[in-house]
Amino acid sequence: MTIPFNKPFLTGKETAYIEQAVNSGKISGNGDFTKKCHKFFEQTYNFKKCLLTTSCTDALEMAALLINIKEGDEVIMPSFTFVSTANAFVLRGAHIVFADSYPENPNIDPSQLEALITPKTRAIVVVHYAGIACDMDYIMKLAKQHSLYVIEDAAQAIDSYYKGQPLGSIGHFGTFSFHETKNIISGEGGMLVINDEKFINRSEIIWEKGTNRSAFFRGEIDKYGWVDIGSSFLPSEVIAAFLFAQLENLTQIQNVRKKIWEHYSQSLAPLLKNTETYLPKIPAYATNNAHLFFLKCANQKERNQLIYHLKNSGILSVFHYLPLHKSSFFKKKHDGRQLLNAEKFADCIIRLPLFYDLTPKEQSTITQAIHLFYRNSKSIIK
Ligand SMILES: *Cc1c(COP(=O)(O)O)cnc(C)c1O
Repeated sequence: MTIPFNKPFLTGKETAYIEQAVNSGKISGNGDFTKKCHKFFEQTYNFKKCLLTTSCTDALEMAALLINIKEGDEVIMPSFTFVSTANAFVLRGAHIVFADSYPENPNIDPSQLEALITPKTRAIVVVHYAGIACDMDYIMKLAKQHSLYVIEDAAQAIDSYYKGQPLGSIGHFGTFSFHETKNIISGEGGMLVINDEKFINRSEIIWEKGTNRSAFFRGEIDKYGWVDIGSSFLPSEVIAAFLFAQLENLTQIQNVRKKIWEHYSQSLAPLLKNTETYLPKIPAYATNNAHLFFLKCANQKERNQLIYHLKNSGILSVFHYLPLHKSSFFKKKHDGRQLLNAEKFADCIIRLPLFYDLTPKEQSTITQAIHLFYRNSKSIIK
């Protein structure tokens, strides 16, 4: 019996809500379930304006459209992230300027940012890796000084906070993912959060294929038409119905995930005390939303051996990301700066299984296998 890396969790209400959506006779977008999801987020996290999308990728693309990214603009972001963070801006013709991570945390190291800003810089995209906040006060201040937009790629950061503020609510925009690997899921799915009021009107238009259809359905105008560029970013009611069933159980899902996370942390911390391998470090200004649990191994060899050892014990673990400045698509466009911390995380991170249905027994199988690995390899790895 293999322990998978991830298993999508179902609350039990998903199919009933999907059936309800189907029976309502309206399954295209922006119906009752979409509105319920928007309201949930706006009430729970005080987000100014939310729009469900079909992915976080789409939400990032909407942000790029909203700030009018054009050919030659520069956008700064960490190299240690998922491709979508960059692709959304590349699609609009932006040149990406990649920044390094902190030495001890995969998040963007803000101390390097100022040196990367040029007259062409338009925006900084931050990624709250593992749902752990970036240092937003510093980043927002810097952005203000240079009149830059800040987009929080909060794909992993649902229900996590920076100094008491929900992630996704601090920058001009926040983008979330409900992909099946995230805490709250709808198969594929995402959301754009608009925190700067001046973008609200246009965000609805871009969301609805460049038309003012949303305003029409609210009765604000008497006919709708093509008023701007846009695309079809809104998900169907089938997806929103699924998502709403998850949202109703958000607290419970989070509690279970946090318990699993804590158990990993407590069981592995003593073991790793005298090794070079370490557990996630959470800064005092950040909370932990238990999105993922990773170890940073001493080096790539040890990491790969550990993945192999776990696989032989019937446990699937994974690594990521390949740093984007070294990707086959981007490496010729990169300015040649070394981003050593990002490369180190790419080489050394291992992610352990973390999902709602992971049983205590499975979890102790995993931690015991890791104990065994370090006991046996103590003499080998130095
Ligand atoms: C998952 C993820 C995305 C992409 O989310 P989709 O909903 O699959 O488009 C983007 N950025 C980060 C940091 C992610 O973890």
